[in-house]
Amino acid sequence: MLAVLFPAVCLCCQRLADCDSFDLGLCDTCRSRLRPLGRGGCSACGRPLAAVPLPDGFLCGDCRRRTPAIDRFVAGWSFEPPFDRVVHGLKYGRLDFLGTQLARGLWSRHGHQLEEVEVVIPVPLHWRRRLSRGYNQAEEIARPLARLLDRPLERAVRRVRATAPQIRLDRRHREGNVAGAFRVRGRSRLRGRHLLIVDDVATTGSTLEATARCLKTAGACWIVALVAGWTPMSSKQPKTPTNKDVFDRISTKKL
Ligand SMILES: [Zn+2]
Ligand SMILES: [Zn+2]
Repeated sequence: MLAVLFPAVCLCCQRLADCDSFDLGLCDTCRSRLRPLGRGGCSACGRPLAAVPLPDGFLCGDCRRRTPAIDRFVAGWSFEPPFDRVVHGLKYGRLDFLGTQLARGLWSRHGHQLEEVEVVIPVPLHWRRRLSRGYNQAEEIARPLARLLDRPLERAVRRVRATAPQIRLDRRHREGNVAGAFRVRGRSRLRGRHLLIVDDVATTGSTLEATARCLKTAGACWIVALVAGWTPMSSKQPKTPTNKDVFDRISTKKL
């Protein structure tokens, strides 16, 4: 009945979609264009390094030098059309069913990397933005994911400073923009725990890294950062090396 009154329209091409296959708000054609991300990147920051899966714990040069607070980075899909329309629908269209479907997709493909997680924590919005939007889109993904993992969801981090939208800034300014923007609630509960932090989209990963850093300072032991959509910043994206380059590097460096 509802399907007759409110026929499903694809978020990308706007054509009427077959209700039976209306996953992620996309028709079959648009959904087939999604690019799921594999394990060919740096384990801590996700930077793409190879077209084949890399050994667990493989780090890019930057992460070897700076020891990131994130221990493992997991991303669902490349943030490009049509996936950007899915995130847009979740973020601005109040289509909360998308959060559940994204969580299910992330869990079915990456759940095996999340087995050691003890607590699920959404990356927070500043209270003013949460109030104007009415919800936190990261939490719309984190909550159903926590249910699938059978782990508690905790709003353990709050954003104490409103920050400019990251999209307008370059990498260096993004890091400065979110530095000191987060505080941890209930520090004692997090000491020594394995945590999963969840966000909808990441580009440089500065927000995730700032969130992870304050959780590590509060005593967290291991942090996995999970994003639904991810794209590295184009200005900083290195020339993608060939698989031979990467294997040469692996064989000459101790992992
Ligand atoms: Zn479509
Ligand atoms: Zn890295």
